[in-house]
Amino acid sequence: MPPRVLDVAVVGAGISGVYTAWRLNEERPDWNVALFEYSDRIGGRLYTRTLPGMPHVHAELGGMRYNPVDHRLVANLVEFLDLTSRVFLMGNPNPAPGDPSGKPVGAANNLYYLRRKHIRLRDLNRPGEIPYAVSWIERGLDPDQLQEHVVKYLVPGHAKLTPDEWFRVKVFGRELYKHGFWDLLSRVLSNEAYDFMKDAGGYDANVANANAVSQLPVGEYGPEVPFLTLKDGFQKLPETIAERFETAARASIHRNHRLASIEKRHGFYRLRFRLTHEVTVNNWSAASARQVHDRADEEPVDFNAKQIILAMPRRSLELVEWDGWREPRVRDLRESVLNQAAFKLFLGYEYPWWRALGLHAGRSITDLPIRQVYYFGTEGEYDGADPANHSSLLMASYNDIGTVPFWKATENDDAFEGYRTPFVPGWAPPVYLGRQPATTGMVELAQNQLRELHGQATLPAPYTALYHDWTDDPYGGGWHEWKAGVRYDQVMPEIRKPVPDDEVYICGEAYSNNQGWVEGALQTAEKLLEDHFQLRRPSWLPPDYDLSW
Ligand SMILES: Cc1cc2nc3c(=O)[nH]c(=O)nc-3n(C[C@H](O)[C@H](O)[C@H](O)COP(=O)(O)OP(=O)(O)OC[C@H]3O[C@@H](n4cnc5c(N)ncnc54)[C@H](O)[C@@H]3O)c2cc1C
Repeated sequence: MPPRVLDVAVVGAGISGVYTAWRLNEERPDWNVALFEYSDRIGGRLYTRTLPGMPHVHAELGGMRYNPVDHRLVANLVEFLDLTSRVFLMGNPNPAPGDPSGKPVGAANNLYYLRRKHIRLRDLNRPGEIPYAVSWIERGLDPDQLQEHVVKYLVPGHAKLTPDEWFRVKVFGRELYKHGFWDLLSRVLSNEAYDFMKDAGGYDANVANANAVSQLPVGEYGPEVPFLTLKDGFQKLPETIAERFETAARASIHRNHRLASIEKRHGFYRLRFRLTHEVTVNNWSAASARQVHDRADEEPVDFNAKQIILAMPRRSLELVEWDGWREPRVRDLRESVLNQAAFKLFLGYEYPWWRALGLHAGRSITDLPIRQVYYFGTEGEYDGADPANHSSLLMASYNDIGTVPFWKATENDDAFEGYRTPFVPGWAPPVYLGRQPATTGMVELAQNQLRELHGQATLPAPYTALYHDWTDDPYGGGWHEWKAGVRYDQVMPEIRKPVPDDEVYICGEAYSNNQGWVEGALQTAEKLLEDHFQLRRPSWLPPDYDLSW
C-alpha cells in the first residue's frame, strides 16, 4: 500500500500536540491531519493515576494544578470543553473538599524542616527563627520576600516594565538576560540567604542558574493563590481534546509510533516511525516509569506529510534524526533551554496521620531529599466515594534537579510489597496488594525522612506507593528553563519554524514563556497556529489575550 500523504503530521500527544491537531481539524476540516504518539498514552507530562483503595483521589505524576487568573488559556479551554474543575488545596483560604461548613483548611501549621530545625509556616518570617546566618538586611524575609527584595534593589520600577523592556534592563554593566540567576543572587545576597531561598522555596529550579529575565520577576505561589485542578484529573484535558479530534473525519491518532527520522523528499517529507510497546524491567512492574521500547520484531512504518509539527520537548527533539539539526544555528535554538530533572513519589496510607499534627492541605518543605510533601484528603471526602473509606494520599516527595539522583539509586531495588493491615486486630489477615510501582529502598528512605520532617519516632506504614522520574527518555526532565545569555523573545518565534525553507514546526512547554506550565505549552501551540497556519482565534479565547512572543 503506498504511504499516505498527510496535510499535517503532528508528532507528540502531550497537551500541545493534541491541541494543535484538534484546532487544525476544526478549522481545516478538509485537511488530513494525523497525530503520532510514542507511547500508548495520551497526555505526555499530564499523567493522572489512582492508587489501590482510592479510586477518586488522583496521584498526578506530572502537572497537577492551574491558576485561573494567570492561566486563562487553560481555564477558558476547561470551561469550553465543559470539564469540571475543583479547588486544588494549597491551604488558606480554601475549604476542604466535601466540608459543608466551607471553613478554610489552613496551612499556617505546615512545616519547614531546615538544617534539622522545625519551623511552622506562620513563623517563617519571624526574625531569628531560621537556622541560616543571613545578613541583618535579610533577616525576617521569607523566600518570596527575599526575591522581592532582590528585584526591587536591582530593577527599581520593575512593575511598570513591559515583557520586551526586561531584555533591555542592565545590571552590573550588562543586560539582565546575560546573567545566570544564581550568579546574580550571589552578587546581592549572602550565600546563606541563597541557601535559605533554595531550601525553603521547595524547588531547586526557582533559584537555578537559568536566564535571570525568566527567573527574576516571578515569585513562588503561596498558600493564598486559588489553584484549581480537574475533578477527573489533569490528564482529562488532553484526553478530552484527543477524543474530539479522533472522532472527526480525516483525523487519526497513531499510538505506539516513535518518530525516528524525517527525510525531505520532493514536495513532501517522509516520516519514519518505529513501533513501540511497553516492557517490564527488572522483573518488577515498573508501571510508573512505563518503559516504552521499540519493537525489534516490527519493520519501521513510513508516512508522508506536507507539513510536520513536532510538539515535544528538547530531549525528544534530540532523539529524532533530521537534516535540519545539522545547521549549528538550529542546534543552538534547540539547546537554548536547560532540561530540569523532576521526580514525584506518592504513598497511600490507611488514614491521614498528618491531620493529628495540624496538617491539612498544601505542602511542608525540607532540605532533606524528599524536599516537598503535599497533604491530600481521604478517599471518602471526594464526590461519589464511600464516606467510610479513610485511605489517604500523601505526595511524600516532590523534588527537582539536585535531589533527583538520590532516588535514582533505589530504582532497581526490590518492588515495594504494600499490604493492608486489618483495622480491627483479628478481623482479617493482611491483604497483599502485590507488587507496587515503587521500590522498598525508595519507600524506606522516604519514610525515614517523613519521620524526621514531622518529628515523629514512628509513622504508620504506607500500604501502596507510586513514583515517576521525568528524566527518563523521551522527556529528559520535568520542565525547562531558558539558559543565561539567550534572547528568548527572539528564539521563541525562530524555533517555531527553525529552518525557513522547511515546513517543520516546533511547539510545546520547553520553548515557551511559561515554562513548567500547561499554559506555556498551549500558548506556543496557539501562536504557531495563528502565525503559520493562519487560524482564527477561537471563540473562547479573548482577542486581547497575549500569547507572548
Ligand atoms: C513533575 C511535574 C509537575 C508539573 N506541574 C505542573 C502543574 O502543576 N501545572 C501545570 O500547568 N504544569 C505543570 N507541569 C508542566 C506541564 O506538565 C507541561 O508543561 C506540559 O504537560 C507539557 O506539554 P507538552 O505538550 O509541551 O509536552 P509533553 O507533555 O512532554 O508531550 C510530548 C509528547 O511527545 C511524545 N513524544 C516524544 N518523542 C516522540 C517521538 N519521537 N515520536 C512520537 N511521540 C513522541 C511524548 O511521549 C509526549 O507524549 C509539570 C510538569 C512536571 C513534569
